[in-house]
Amino acid sequence: MSEPVDDCVFCKIIAGEIPADVLARNEHAVSFKDLHPQAPFHALVVPLAHHADVAASAAADPSIVGHAVALADEVARAAGNDHYRLVANTGRGAGQTVFHTHFHVLAGSSGMTERLV
Ligand code: AMP
Ligand code: ZN
Repeated sequence: MSEPVDDCVFCKIIAGEIPADVLARNEHAVSFKDLHPQAPFHALVVPLAHHADVAASAAADPSIVGHAVALADEVARAAGNDHYRLVANTGRGAGQTVFHTHFHVLAGSSGMTERLV
């Protein structure tokens, strides 16, 4: 499913129906600030096409994921962050709460040096 989904908060942001602090947008994806930042720099990168998670997007069209990563790099560097972390929570058990593919772009914290893996 890549058509907008009625009850999807990110589809609503893409459609301009609810506000967001938008950092960048192109024909593939939009990036905006996370409402509840977990790091000094915390943006989301959201493909315009609605799929439930990053694996579903990759299965539908791998370029969706590539374009999202490229936009993540752009917004991180534009904010002065050459080093950043990308997180794609996949599934409720991994903490996913919005079921429209997105990457968290996290940077700018001493805590970012902590290894998660
Ligand atoms: P996840 O838990 O990985 O699905 O991430 C969803 C993220 O979306 C959370 O970090 C929320 O803070 C963020 N979020 C939810 N609604 C909004 C919104 N309207 N604007 C910006 N960020 C949002
Ligand atoms: Zn959506």
